[in-house]
Amino acid sequence: MAGWDGKGSTTQWRKTRALILQRDDYLCQLTLPGCTTTATQVDHIIRLADGGMKYEPTNLRAACKHCNLAREHNPPLTPYTNQRW
Ligand SMILES: [Zn+2]
Repeated sequence: MAGWDGKGSTTQWRKTRALILQRDDYLCQLTLPGCTTTATQVDHIIRLADGGMKYEPTNLRAACKHCNLAREHNPPLTPYTNQRW
């Protein structure tokens, strides 16, 4: 059905997120000031808006809620050339 793999919470995303959290031992990989250490979320290293792969493990890392939120309000930590097509 249309929308099965649309944006939002899907089975595939839940599985991918669980995989990344296990891979990173449920430890936040961002460790920004105020980090709570315990990862409960997954951060896209290259944001989806910048062309990052949503389900690609190499583009994902475990993040605590604090860091994930903080990153949303800050520029990307790593230099990235935004490519337009
Ligand atoms: Zn953190």
